[in-house]
Amino acid sequence: MPDVIVKCPTCSKAVAWIAANKFRPFCSERCQLIDLGEWAEGNRRIPADPTHDQLSLDDIKGDQDS
Ligand SMILES: [Zn+2]
Repeated sequence: MPDVIVKCPTCSKAVAWIAANKFRPFCSERCQLIDLGEWAEGNRRIPADPTHDQLSLDDIKGDQDS
């Protein structure tokens, strides 16, 4: 079986659920810190990390804007 793939809770990027990925289920330390930070502040809105979020937002908006 291939590795289990999960979605990063922060940016929804596909992440391989493997022992080597110490940030799972996040795709990166960046997303992990963002999520933990949001929880710590009691605020689930994600204002930070625009480059990461734009990957999915642009995919949605790009088709409509152009
Ligand atoms: Zn991520």
